[in-house]
Amino acid sequence: MALPPLEDTISAIATAPGQGAIGIVRLSGEGSYRIADSLFRPRSQEAPSTLAAGRVVYGHLEGSGGLLDEALLLTFRAPHSYTGQDAVEFQTHGGPAVLRQLLEECLRQGARLAKPGEFTLRAYLNGRLDLVQAESVLEIIQAQSDSALRNAALGLTRVLSVRLEHIQQMVTQVLAGIQALLDYPEEGLPTTEFQIPLSQAIGEIDRLLATTRAGAISRRGARLVLLGKPNVGKSSLLNALLGYQRSIVSELPGTTRDYLEAPMTVEGIPITTIDTAGIHFTRNRIEAAGVATAKELAANSDLCVCLLDRSRPLSEEDEELLCNLDDKRTLVVANKVDLPPAWLAEELGLTVIEVSAIDGSGLDALREDIRSALIGNVETSELWISNERHAEALRRARDYLYRAREAADDLAALDLEDALRALAEITGRGTIAEDTLEHIFANFCVGK
Ligand code: GDP
Repeated sequence: MALPPLEDTISAIATAPGQGAIGIVRLSGEGSYRIADSLFRPRSQEAPSTLAAGRVVYGHLEGSGGLLDEALLLTFRAPHSYTGQDAVEFQTHGGPAVLRQLLEECLRQGARLAKPGEFTLRAYLNGRLDLVQAESVLEIIQAQSDSALRNAALGLTRVLSVRLEHIQQMVTQVLAGIQALLDYPEEGLPTTEFQIPLSQAIGEIDRLLATTRAGAISRRGARLVLLGKPNVGKSSLLNALLGYQRSIVSELPGTTRDYLEAPMTVEGIPITTIDTAGIHFTRNRIEAAGVATAKELAANSDLCVCLLDRSRPLSEEDEELLCNLDDKRTLVVANKVDLPPAWLAEELGLTVIEVSAIDGSGLDALREDIRSALIGNVETSELWISNERHAEALRRARDYLYRAREAADDLAALDLEDALRALAEITGRGTIAEDTLEHIFANFCVGK
């Protein structure tokens, strides 16, 4: 499949379906002003095509069937528009009928219905945005959490692009140095001279790659499973972390037989917390199914909290749970520290976080531990690599740089060229396969 043409005029409804205060229909391409002339009657009597760029004009829209709505017209002239082309936007009332009719009028006047993401594709092809910025636009639209939004906004302001350009510059300089020396093969390559800047470039890539887990979690959210035998306080802890009553708390064991999920945010990170049936030995089939589900949920989670009751002696069930822990993905938490202890954390030989779901003590420390178990020590102010396409190209570039650093001959030059190509794929300022572009832009909504 080929990319759509750039030359014709495209149109789409840019606002979400349904009723809203305002709706927007946009046009981009050479015919935008001609179509605006035929549909829009400004109160000032100036034809839209005579308007300067960057104007907002009040008027009425008239279609083939007569008056459509009152509207504002926004005008943009190439190259100073989102797409880099002549473009206009009509702001109407946000009703489905008015927007549909206005779009139909635009199409009747010769515009073509835009494909998903086509406005942004044009912006990219016209050099208004690089590919990282274009992908950041989509990430902003899709962002569900503060951290995903912050990250996408950093991408849109070229924070990643600039860091990549810096790495590209370092590699280009080494490549130029090697190529100059290749003309004098009898001298041999002074390897250490090249190894230092290459190690710096690799270090920069490593710093970016160290943020991929944080980036992925900020984008998709994390799954946190609460495990523990009945009555240790799983539901109480869930409610305490959420700050409202989501799960039934009861002194009777076995209240949560299935499981329940609740969304929350810990330091900007979106987390779905799952309260499970207590893990215990049982002959009851429904309870047993709940226990099996809890174990399965734990296996598929990003992080487990293994909850113990510090006010009662540890039982065989606690011991079994502790024996089967996946250390890297589990936090051991002792609850009910407001009551006299039946055992001490030191006795377990594990790192134990002590909390009380009732009086809230230790919960801030638990939140902090959840954060660092999920995303490590990455700085919140830093840009995180949240896009797998970027991560994959960075890993590839790093592999080529490793090889170039080891090779002390002209093969290093070839590896450096490959590394530069991999880096250029990220910003799309190099050769990039059309199907990669199609794949990226197909995820956008129509009208963006
Ligand atoms: P679950 O079965 O593990 O979900 O446990 P629940 O959350 O239903 O709590 C079981 C009982 O322990 C309830 O009576 C709670 O009020 C009580 N409980 C839970 N957490 C604490 C705590 O931190 N301190 C005290 N004193 N009681 C708690």
